[in-house]
Amino acid sequence: MVTVREVQGGRVLMGRLTHGADLLEELTAVCAENGIRLGWVRALGAVQKARLGYYDQGRQEYEFLDFDRHLEIANLVGNVSVKDGEPVIHAHVTLADDRGRAFGGHLAPGTTVFACEFCVQAFDGAELRRAHDDETGLPLWKD
Ligand code: ZN
Repeated sequence: MVTVREVQGGRVLMGRLTHGADLLEELTAVCAENGIRLGWVRALGAVQKARLGYYDQGRQEYEFLDFDRHLEIANLVGNVSVKDGEPVIHAHVTLADDRGRAFGGHLAPGTTVFACEFCVQAFDGAELRRAHDDETGLPLWKD
């Protein structure tokens, strides 16, 4: 079943994260502190180390890949919605190494900012809430 909302463009925040911060946690805090509960996130920059998730669809569990190395954030794309009453960010990243090789996956806590410039586009007029989905085992948007 498709879940869809019509939304209106809201505020746009642009900024830079703190050197040494946790990428996902600080982006989430920016949204929470600015009252953003629905939106779209983009960012680029570099990380000191990274933790990416890969969802094993058969076992319905995340596996985590740890990259203890300096990497470029070639792309970060994500969304903001609500889970358990709080804004949460679901983001995927493409990270590139010193030879331009790329790695990608689900952004997990444990990814440390070297430098990161972000843009959050907030949306108004609707809310999307995450709840457990039996088919996938994931916290997905539900009506
Ligand atoms: Zn994901």
